[in-house]
Amino acid sequence: MDTADAPGARADFGFRDVPVGEKARLVRGVFDSVAGRYDLMNDLMSLGAHRLWKDALADWLAPRPGALLLDVAGGTGDVARRWRARGGGPAIVCDINRAMIEAGRARPGRADPGLSWLCGDAEALPLPDRSADACSIAFGLRNVTRLDAALAEARRVLRPGGRFLCLEFSGPPLSALRRPYDLWSFRVVPEIGRLVARDREAYVYLVESIRRFPDREALAARIAAAGLGRVAWRPLAGGVAALHSAWRL
Ligand code: SAM
Repeated sequence: MDTADAPGARADFGFRDVPVGEKARLVRGVFDSVAGRYDLMNDLMSLGAHRLWKDALADWLAPRPGALLLDVAGGTGDVARRWRARGGGPAIVCDINRAMIEAGRARPGRADPGLSWLCGDAEALPLPDRSADACSIAFGLRNVTRLDAALAEARRVLRPGGRFLCLEFSGPPLSALRRPYDLWSFRVVPEIGRLVARDREAYVYLVESIRRFPDREALAARIAAAGLGRVAWRPLAGGVAALHSAWRL
């Protein structure tokens, strides 16, 4: 049993602890609220760096024609589009939030028949066992209620030999970055959220949730505990974010 399922269990929602059954509803509220401004907010609050990190993720995935990518918590489809642009086979964007999927579908540009959208929960993926060649999750793991269940699901849907990649904010950053990063996170990002997405609290949650997330080594251990092998990670931007890689062996 996941500890999140123990009687009276609580889950983190930013710096608050909430009853475990509440977190998904609260997270849904955040993304319902910001979906229309999500892409613009990503550029503003990361100063465009999220694009480079997603490029690094897509490069590390080494897309191949004919290989199927499942991008979990895929939001507006940034990772799946990169996979396709690099010559990867079909890509499925799976997200629990319809508003995020609709924002992704509404993006300008030619429709790609190799890109499909699926509404589903990372903790109970609506895909058969061993059906994907690669499985990615970018800035999604910290939003799920049961992290270990989401990792176990990623393993379940991967074919043996399939690749798992996770991109997340991380910590701790290099000591020289800590103070400016704290100021940016706790002072500037919520204000950008208020002005641009008209929801300051959503961005308070997002920056707080980053601080509650396991550090690089702890996340690597959780990935290994889910049964994925050859776990490796790379820090990005002085440790502000990290890419974790593993395989279903
Ligand atoms: N991967 C996209 C990106 O990097 O731009 C979106 C990341 S966004 C910060 C987090 C996404 O996780 C949201 O689209 C949200 O709806 C989704 N999400 C939260 N909980 C989820 C769950 N249990 N299963 C699937 N998606 C979930």
